[in-house]
Amino acid sequence: MSAPVELRPENLRALVHERIGNATLRGNIMRATRTSLDKRLHAIDDYEDWEAMRDAAHGIKRLVLDNLAHYLETFERNATARGTRVVYARDGAEACAIIVDIIHRAGGRVAVKAKSMTSEEIGLGHALAREGIEPIETDLGEYIVQLAGEMPSHITAPALHKSREEIGRLFAEHLGIAYTSDPETLTAVARRVLREKFLHADVGISGVNAAVADTGAIAIVENEGNARMSTTLPRVHIALMGFEKLVPDMRSLTHIVNILARSATGQRISCYTNIIAGPRKADELDGPEELVVVVMDNGRARFLDDARLREALLCIRCGACMNTCPVYQTVGGHGYGSIYAGPIGSVITPVLQGMERAKAMPYASSLCGACSDICPVKIDLHHMLLWQRHRAVEGKLGHWFERLAMRGFLAAMRSPFLYRFAAKAASMFAPLFHKGDGTTRLPLWSRSRDFRMPAEPSFRDQWKERTHERKG
Ligand code: SF4
Repeated sequence: MSAPVELRPENLRALVHERIGNATLRGNIMRATRTSLDKRLHAIDDYEDWEAMRDAAHGIKRLVLDNLAHYLETFERNATARGTRVVYARDGAEACAIIVDIIHRAGGRVAVKAKSMTSEEIGLGHALAREGIEPIETDLGEYIVQLAGEMPSHITAPALHKSREEIGRLFAEHLGIAYTSDPETLTAVARRVLREKFLHADVGISGVNAAVADTGAIAIVENEGNARMSTTLPRVHIALMGFEKLVPDMRSLTHIVNILARSATGQRISCYTNIIAGPRKADELDGPEELVVVVMDNGRARFLDDARLREALLCIRCGACMNTCPVYQTVGGHGYGSIYAGPIGSVITPVLQGMERAKAMPYASSLCGACSDICPVKIDLHHMLLWQRHRAVEGKLGHWFERLAMRGFLAAMRSPFLYRFAAKAASMFAPLFHKGDGTTRLPLWSRSRDFRMPAEPSFRDQWKERTHERKG
């Protein structure tokens, strides 16, 4: 058996081939995404004018984007006044170093983590492990993929690609229990194991769904209560966020939380909405002694320089664009090789990790536009994907043969003479490659798609004949 392809964006083609033949995986992904889409439809039914909700969410996020420095300063000032320490990190390495330093100074050995895509983005778990700090994922989906040694395959449902039978086998192997595929039993086992970890953890690490500028509070939405445990039981809470997570005020937060829950999990509201405004006060019973919010750039500022990609920073990480994407539904998150998969992943990864590494990602789309239609903050995803393709072409990153073919195509489309010549040549030579079913076997092209035999007589000849008849 050949070794599995490494999950890297530059391996996208090989990863897709590897996954496309796995019927079980495709079944798991299709079932999960369809269920999410059905639940979302039901949840947005409450609103007669869902479009107005989307417009308002777009407006809130756009306001922050256009006044970023103001809202960042306001957040820092108000958070600091409440006893929160706000620190800035230029990139993932710096964010990891800051977090490791905080944990070392707190004498910590075990860190419980609530789900955070930002921490996955910078490989925080590995960075902690290298420093002798045990990172424990406490979201059930994240815990499953951590046990499996995998990366999450979806922004909101990290283990979406796994069936309950696979999870049952995983738990039996790693947790020493008898095999069962009963979800309730498996959840109870995870809860028992994780509860012990919560009680002994020195530090809790979380992401941030929104940071409220005018109060200096952070909001974390979840369904399992693990984020609340991670952020209240340990002595130190570290929250990691990209600077795009800011919202102006509590009213805006209400709107974002509302639209996020409906789009992500098809709920009217998440089971827990944690609003954390500083560390524990003298008269409070629970909460951490120290709260540090790490605000990270890690390539986000590059979006600000490109007017066509800027609005990718509006993303609230609901995952709806993945659920509705026919490519994601077929290959799942691991097929992209990036922690951010699906349409939004294909837009942001080439910026965050560089176009050279992720040049194939913008092509992992049918450009059907379903992603733009579903996005609750109205990000024009499919046009951004087209723009990313343009950037890849401009950067001359495609295969030389493809570039040569495209140049030939362009020349033919610009010159009626060349076009006629090429059409004639295609009619003459196509029979040499005819497969007998109306399609041709063209080198490279036919590996993954059909190429129809040229029509005989051609449209051009038919047109000429008809206009000739009419004149006659
Ligand atoms: S791009 Fe839109 S639909 Fe996709 S995850 Fe972000 S907010 Fe959700």
